[in-house]
Amino acid sequence: MRQLGCAEARDLASDLIDGELSAELTADVENHVANCRTCPALYRALVSVHARLVALRPSPGFRTS
Ligand SMILES: [Zn+2]
Repeated sequence: MRQLGCAEARDLASDLIDGELSAELTADVENHVANCRTCPALYRALVSVHARLVALRPSPGFRTS
């Protein structure tokens, strides 16, 4: 476990949401967000934007043309 800076944690957060982080880095980011005053709001915003993008993604086999 290492201490992340805000910029690093925010950078990693988008990878975390995409499921591209190792368990160790995920723990580092979650630890930072849990202990930071400013990152939780940003992290929640990222999560909700991601959820909306996933919802917009066409389901497999769905064709628009
Ligand atoms: Zn922070």
